[in-house]
Amino acid sequence: MKGYMLIGGKRVFKKEEIEIHFPYDGSLVGTIPRGDEKDAQLAVEAAKIGFEKVKRMTAYERFRALERAARIISRRAQEFAELLTLEVGKTIKEAMGEVGRAVNTLTLSAEEAKRVLGEEVRFDAAPGISGKLGFYRRVPLGVIGCITPFNFPLNLTCHKVGPALAAGNAVVIKPSENTSLTVIKLAEVLIEAGFPPEAVNVITGYGEEVGDALVRNPEVRMITFTGSVETGKIIMSRGGLKKYVMELGSNAGVYVDRDQKERLKEVAEKIARGGFALAGQVCISVQRVFVHTELFNDFLKEVRAFTKTLKVGDPREETTDVGPVIDKGAADRIMEWIEEAVCRGAEIVCGGKRLSDTLIEPTIVKNVPRNAKLFRGEVFGPVIVVNEVSSLEEAIEGVNDSPYGLQAGIFTNDLKGALKFADEVECGGIMVNEIPTFRVDQMPYGGVKESGIGREGPKFAVEEMTEIKTICFDMN
Ligand code: NAD
Repeated sequence: MKGYMLIGGKRVFKKEEIEIHFPYDGSLVGTIPRGDEKDAQLAVEAAKIGFEKVKRMTAYERFRALERAARIISRRAQEFAELLTLEVGKTIKEAMGEVGRAVNTLTLSAEEAKRVLGEEVRFDAAPGISGKLGFYRRVPLGVIGCITPFNFPLNLTCHKVGPALAAGNAVVIKPSENTSLTVIKLAEVLIEAGFPPEAVNVITGYGEEVGDALVRNPEVRMITFTGSVETGKIIMSRGGLKKYVMELGSNAGVYVDRDQKERLKEVAEKIARGGFALAGQVCISVQRVFVHTELFNDFLKEVRAFTKTLKVGDPREETTDVGPVIDKGAADRIMEWIEEAVCRGAEIVCGGKRLSDTLIEPTIVKNVPRNAKLFRGEVFGPVIVVNEVSSLEEAIEGVNDSPYGLQAGIFTNDLKGALKFADEVECGGIMVNEIPTFRVDQMPYGGVKESGIGREGPKFAVEEMTEIKTICFDMN
């Protein structure tokens, strides 16, 4: 597929192009234009016109357009899923799952279009004030820059564009250079569904070039970004005075309590699924597992047995469970991190081998020292760390010993222990008897510490993407 930018509804091609490759075997999937500062500028200009049009659409018209977009994607699910598999390398099962979630995210956004609400302000609650009547409204911001990562190009872009349009904003989307083709198709669907072409723009190219130009544009009132913490920090230092939502990385921790013996097999299976889905390239992948000493060896036996059943290989095949990572560079880094942990005294329980440039066996590593990158950093690959702890307190301390704080999980029958964990773990979301990888699209989602700022989930994103305007009448 020859990709293009969408600026003011026009397809824009460029001489200089970037190739997109299938992560599994490196074959060419398509090309995208290498956009530059001028393209970002033109897209923002178009979006300003788009904003004037979207903000005049009624709530019902925005609802209808988003709902229609959801239906179109649902009808074309197979086509979207196949492209996702080719661009991201995720298995076809995972790709179908992402399409289903994107349909849901757009539907939830459509519903939110009807609920962009303010409330009455009691001016007479201040001493000496009477005869004033008023309220506040939630008004759209204007042009919103949406910058998205490679791993869920469809659903994570819907999480930005859906609420932005529901609230009456216009968008300029800068998708990942690895996975832009899916996003171009999404933008076309939104226009086909009824949004003004100027309101949904896509610029493609490298982050440091066209992405940076979008971030620095003073007419862009907000940047909603999902990606790595390194990029998030650069964006915030470059963008100046505007609003930011930052959905960044993590190295999610989960604790298996001593009372889990009876359901250990089920818990181990859930944890392995949470660690190896999308070859570990999920921001809430299970990365660090803390197991109570009493169950440590039994847990390792169970998790190893399940992991051995996972089929690694071609993501286009229905039977494949674990596909490749995004590119060779990512695989090189993941292998280095495993080696570094082993040099520091960790032991490989299973996996640990590289099967091709981008395929890595699902890997479990035990007794990983706290100073190893596998414990401290975000591995973003099919690797799970399993460490032993002797108490709930030690588990809480271990989960918190991270620069990140997106989601965490605990498996326990102890109600008080679960509440203590929920209370003391520094994260945006706590899952009890569930893995930290659990997310449904309507829930508030986002992190603390280096995992980010602000929340997504259409209801919460609409709040982030609107401003409060207060209106007061003097009735005296
Ligand atoms: P990345 O940070 O490399 O890139 C993300 C996007 O930012 C891309 O579109 C890229 O082109 C753009 N970009 C890069 N430099 C830029 C710059 N200077 N200015 C403007 N834009 C720039 O991330 P990635 O490798 O695509 O995705 C993986 C990361 O995303 C992981 O850290 C993962 O945890 C995180 N992530 C977080 C969530 C969440 O909801 N918290 C969800 C998915 C992924």
